[in-house]
Amino acid sequence: MIRSVNFQRPQNRFVTHLQTSDLRKHYVMGTSVVRALDGVSMTVEQGEFLGLLGTSGSGKSTLLNLLGGLDHATSGTLRIFDQDLAKMSRAELSMHRRKNVGIIFQSFNLISTMTATDNVALSMMFAGIPRAEREREASRLLESMGLGGRQKHRPKELSGGEQQRVAISRALANKPALLLADEPTGNLDSKTSKEIMDLLKALNERDGKTIILVTHDAALAHKYSHRIITLMDGTVVSDAKAADAQA
Ligand code: ADP
Repeated sequence: MIRSVNFQRPQNRFVTHLQTSDLRKHYVMGTSVVRALDGVSMTVEQGEFLGLLGTSGSGKSTLLNLLGGLDHATSGTLRIFDQDLAKMSRAELSMHRRKNVGIIFQSFNLISTMTATDNVALSMMFAGIPRAEREREASRLLESMGLGGRQKHRPKELSGGEQQRVAISRALANKPALLLADEPTGNLDSKTSKEIMDLLKALNERDGKTIILVTHDAALAHKYSHRIITLMDGTVVSDAKAADAQA
């Protein structure tokens, strides 16, 4: 049972959360250039659940890395609310990553030697939150994810679904408005995948989180997203309302 995690629902669903314009990321490999992103222009509204579809190598992870402040673009603009990530220094990008975005990965990326509570509390340490408050908030988040009895467990003592819930708790720890989920159910069975996707849906609908879901699974994207952007060879080839989206 997943209880509310107390975040504010945005007052206005039609505020632009992020916008890219002619965004490019090129990698120079010896004498050749890999155009991982080659002119992506897109807008995501606050409170939207966006599916980012595309086959392997189409540029999805590269785009997510730029949105998450994990890397700098080669050219173009990338605005998140009123901030232009292209103009940020490495230190400012790192601050953006800690405060404004929560990232959820296919392989959970938990620290194997740390307990569930410590994995969640660690991200708050980097944000300068005192230890007692970090632990209190980590416990509250884990309880809200139905993991009240698993707080002292290490990742290998948890199921895949439980590990992903710890990772989602960690992503929520600094109260970001934007969640980036990179194939979050790729390592899970179908029942657990549905539970994790329903949890993301609740974070979107109940708590107003903007969610960008990266997947190669068109059915999953259509079931959970409001809108779907499809990438191919680093460019947007379609941008349309999801087939299953409610009017
Ligand atoms: P996807 O997530 O859709 O599978 P990626 O964004 O990972 O696609 O990759 C897009 C393209 O960029 C691929 O051709 C990939 O090989 C290339 N690429 C990704 N990261 C790097 C990198 N660090 N150096 C060189 N090429 C890269």
